[in-house]
Amino acid sequence: MSIQDRNKKILMDLVQLPGNNTCADCGAPDPDWASCSLGVFVCLDCSGFHRSLTSMNRVKSIRLDFWDDEMVKFMKTNGNEAAKIFYERDVPPFYYRPQQKDSAVLRDQWIKAKYERQEFTGDNRHRQEIYSSGFYEGRLWKKAKDNGQFLKRKFTLSDSDFTLKYYTKDDLPRAIISIKSLNATFQPEKIGHQNGLQIMFQDAQRSQNLFVYHDSGQEIVNWFNAIRAARFAYLKTAFPMANDSELSPRITRNYLKEGYMEKTGPMQRETFRKRWFILDGQERKLLYFKTKLDAVELGAVFIGPETLGYSAAKIAPRGTRGNRWKFGVTMETPDRQFVFMCEREREQGEWLEALKVIISKPMLPQDYASKNPSQAGVWLCRLGLCACDQMVAGSNLRVCNNALCNSAALCINSITCYKFIDYIIILY
Ligand SMILES: [Zn+2]
Repeated sequence: MSIQDRNKKILMDLVQLPGNNTCADCGAPDPDWASCSLGVFVCLDCSGFHRSLTSMNRVKSIRLDFWDDEMVKFMKTNGNEAAKIFYERDVPPFYYRPQQKDSAVLRDQWIKAKYERQEFTGDNRHRQEIYSSGFYEGRLWKKAKDNGQFLKRKFTLSDSDFTLKYYTKDDLPRAIISIKSLNATFQPEKIGHQNGLQIMFQDAQRSQNLFVYHDSGQEIVNWFNAIRAARFAYLKTAFPMANDSELSPRITRNYLKEGYMEKTGPMQRETFRKRWFILDGQERKLLYFKTKLDAVELGAVFIGPETLGYSAAKIAPRGTRGNRWKFGVTMETPDRQFVFMCEREREQGEWLEALKVIISKPMLPQDYASKNPSQAGVWLCRLGLCACDQMVAGSNLRVCNNALCNSAALCINSITCYKFIDYIIILY
């Protein structure tokens, strides 16, 4: 056996060990590239980001490239687990760790933060200050509401009052946005910029969008993590009894599916109109907008579970009511039937699958707030089973200590009321 064959065999065995069998940076299965400067196994995509690191750019294919004994020994003594212990020793709990399907800017910046700037080794804590201090300020390109132009605007983020503000003139905020209902998600394709970030928030009863970007990848990812830090601080205050792993999925989220479909009205005789839909799995909502970069939602449909009468199915093509597209999806809710038409059969399948993911999930206590935003927080206890549909008997109820919440009745299992910070008191 030649040196090369023997070394390749050793590498192939090494990459199957737990830890090495997923990409060190995005978790993709079966990595077949490696950084022989850092001693980590990575996927093809992440190998590209590693190549762009300034000082540690020795990246090789474990199948195609030549490996000498020295390098193989280095991989053996290092590996993904050891690298993780060193480079990820001190990742803040709010900091976003990208996955395989995340946008390139997130993965690229994660790799730069981790290995090049060494932000998480514990020795460079000051480098985390910029996004974890509770205040962030800067200028972002923001899409104007009316003409689609991107204009440079000052933004400030503060966790002292949990707001995001932007300014058209330097001293006067044009909008003050509560971060309590805010979500941020990278949307490079939709926004048409590799660093494009969508910020969605709830204003009164409607969801609204801000579309922003920064020319620097590091800067936009800092913004994203600063928003996550502020959201995490808010969640910690609102739900003091919850642990980090419970709060973490609620910091920000990606949407289950987005795209154009045609929809008709409640009578199903109305003209079909093309709308941009966003399916939010966490909030159990299908939101629709006039176009993909519209600021204000036109409407939203709450999606409950199968047990409460929700279902989705394919429907036969309809050609008589003004729809141009032929691949239909129908969704039943207790109130009405919705009909959506997709342009392609593949999209029909994807929408159906995504809707079924939500329909098959049981309702959680917080979903009742999503169904009826005016009651958000008022009725829900952290452990559920109370003033939702399953209210328990009177003597076991507690009431929230917050004046704004005085009608909330919560079961004996409750620890804190969902929205307000105050502890609840027992109501005898
Ligand atoms: Zn990867």
